[in-house]
Amino acid sequence: MRVFTASLATETNTFAPLFVDRSAFEGAFYCPPGTHPDTPTLCSAPTVAARRRAASEGYELVEGTATWAEPAGLVSREGYESLRDEILGQLKAALPVDIVLLGLHGSMVARGYDDCEGDLIARVRALAGPDCVIGAELDMHCHLTAEMVAGADIIVAFKEFPHTDFLARAEDLLELCLKTARKQVKPVSAVFDCRGLAAFMTSREPGRSFVDRLIAMEGKDGILSISVAHGFQAADVADVGTKVLVIADGDEAKAAALAKQLGLEILRWGQGGSPKHYKPEEGIAAALALAEPGKPVVLADRWDNPGGGVAGDSSVMVEALLRHPEIPAAIGALWDPVAVSLCRAAGVGTEIPLRFIGKAAPSSGRPIDAVVKVVGTTEDLLIPFEQSWVSLGPAAAIRIGQLDIVLASTRAQTFSPPVFTDLGIDLSAKKVVVVKSSNHFHAAFAPIAAQVLYLDSGGPYPPDATKIPYTKVKRPFSPLDPNPWL
Ligand SMILES: [Zn+2]
Repeated sequence: MRVFTASLATETNTFAPLFVDRSAFEGAFYCPPGTHPDTPTLCSAPTVAARRRAASEGYELVEGTATWAEPAGLVSREGYESLRDEILGQLKAALPVDIVLLGLHGSMVARGYDDCEGDLIARVRALAGPDCVIGAELDMHCHLTAEMVAGADIIVAFKEFPHTDFLARAEDLLELCLKTARKQVKPVSAVFDCRGLAAFMTSREPGRSFVDRLIAMEGKDGILSISVAHGFQAADVADVGTKVLVIADGDEAKAAALAKQLGLEILRWGQGGSPKHYKPEEGIAAALALAEPGKPVVLADRWDNPGGGVAGDSSVMVEALLRHPEIPAAIGALWDPVAVSLCRAAGVGTEIPLRFIGKAAPSSGRPIDAVVKVVGTTEDLLIPFEQSWVSLGPAAAIRIGQLDIVLASTRAQTFSPPVFTDLGIDLSAKKVVVVKSSNHFHAAFAPIAAQVLYLDSGGPYPPDATKIPYTKVKRPFSPLDPNPWL
């Protein structure tokens, strides 16, 4: 048996003025065949899963390119086409293959391609033939299009938000593809379209129990796999929205019935799937009331999360914390490569006048001018996220009074406390810690936090779907319209 694997992924916020070309992939994560590290990344876990079982399962693995760009705005046509054609060329050279495993995201949009993954999967099918088993792993924040589902035999999305399960789901995908290739199962897919946005977190109820139930249903009673595509609302594409995908063993009616049942359940939660979001001042006051000795309250600046395709340089929360010089606080990581280079050149221990953050777009707020003390620098801020390592590039920690601020050169989420501690910041001495992440921070920060709260600092990510200038979404679509299922 021959297995081909490759990965091409990013998440496209079509409203963000941060444009992506091939160099953005090459600068973030780009592994030509054979150079993928032993550890997986968020969207390339199929390569690692397939490597680990090649010997015991007795298949020959052919690795194609694996690449990822940090979520941002539209991908250039040339950038997408050159990476796509690179992978297709590698597949063509590897033919014949029995299985193709793709590590994708599911919400990549390029100029001229609203559905990059649907396009890629269709071209893989055309090359590999109708008998090849095509499997794809997607992020749950995907636009699950009809083209993707029609082109692939098996799609498995992450179940967990935070995405603690990217390797586990890649292993599920590999297992199902092997069983399909060996004719042990006959996967049939059914999708229920919720006709709206119904995202939830699995670090809290009701999402936690719901996903535990999905996992318990898999592998029983003819149900092979269940994925909830939450959708990614910051994209003007026709297929934006939440969908449930059920893959059953030969029984399409059973898959469709379960997908509908689960989709209606999610819709009935309404806003119950989301936590309360605090305005900046309200969040700081709540944090002060809840902080414990040695344990800060962690505030997530959800709508300035680079993982959502925005810059991560919004100054709104820094300004809010500067209004409270009495509070020992930390905030990071904010994107400002120019300020980082100035801090590193000045050196640790120096006090310098610095203009920083609030630069990428009007929605980033105003830049901040202050005399800051440089308290830490590093050539590469490398932090863990589950089984993967994420680089924030050269970084610096600066101090204004009791406020410590981490500035980084590479846009990436604040996945784990080493963003601060590797630069010498003691989080146990703080009352308030603000992280630039939506929920991926949760698994690593919850153990050191007295409480985790979520902020609504006003953007730049568009938190309110009713205010997003969609032009392509299929209607009816809630919350723009009443939901037709309710
Ligand atoms: Zn995601």
